[in-house]
Amino acid sequence: MATWTIGSVTVTRVEEQLGITHVPCEKYFRGFERDVLERHLHWLAPDHYSPQHDRVITSVHSWLIRAGDLTILLDTCGGNHKERPWTPRFHQLDTPFLQRLRAAGAAPEDIDLVLCTHLHADHVGWNTMLRDGRWVPTFPNAKYLFSRTDDAYWDVRKNPAMANDPRHMAYEDSVLPVVQSGQAVLVDDGYNVTNQLSIEAAPGHSPGHVVVRLAEQGRRAVFCGDVIHHALQVYAPHWNHMADERPADAAVSRRRLLESCAEQGSLLFPIHFGAPHVAAIEHATGGFAVKFVPGVP
Ligand SMILES: [Zn+2]
Repeated sequence: MATWTIGSVTVTRVEEQLGITHVPCEKYFRGFERDVLERHLHWLAPDHYSPQHDRVITSVHSWLIRAGDLTILLDTCGGNHKERPWTPRFHQLDTPFLQRLRAAGAAPEDIDLVLCTHLHADHVGWNTMLRDGRWVPTFPNAKYLFSRTDDAYWDVRKNPAMANDPRHMAYEDSVLPVVQSGQAVLVDDGYNVTNQLSIEAAPGHSPGHVVVRLAEQGRRAVFCGDVIHHALQVYAPHWNHMADERPADAAVSRRRLLESCAEQGSLLFPIHFGAPHVAAIEHATGGFAVKFVPGVP
């Protein structure tokens, strides 16, 4: 388990899954260009691409952030025992995620804040767990911060059209029980979580997607959720992901993210990059370059 330090803040990666995607590159990325992949093969294998399968490798993890007195969990993976007929990688999982969280030093009752960058199934799953046949919040003492725009989009009570999309099941079992328990806080662009952590709108992958920016003792980091999925997109920011709800907005948010990282020296903490999972972004001829930054084991 690796940890990164930003000033007085520590960030630990808690893994749920790491492996090849279940779809070909041509489907995973909209606008995929094979020559870009081939140009970068020398660093892509084995952590970001499997030549044997011709599939990209992606991670699904949470970031455990310790900032001052607060213990924060950012994005909560797929969760266990959830019905996800539209996405086999997240259907009826049974992973030791909570044991790994404990191994990182946090029991569920220790979590003060849960931050979800957006409300897709692989970012809200551990918000809840099954107890006596009911979905209950996994983190009993936490406030959960959700994007107000995403909440309005995925909740069929607010957006009846969503009833036709099976993905609203993730809202029903992983967000609604938190709202009903009174633990949810709906937030907008510019919301300050603490004096170090703030929420910024980055729409496209979902309508209300947000990133969380950290500024601490002159150092910066950004927890970018699914604004970018794969390190190869640093070299092809115009490639969208198959699940980007609003592709044109997604591409704008991705480029803005990379630009801000390169300009401000913000360390990038994505949710799906392969090992070592964290990167610095630099300006390069014609665009950007990735420089991976391993954590301390
Ligand atoms: Zn995701």
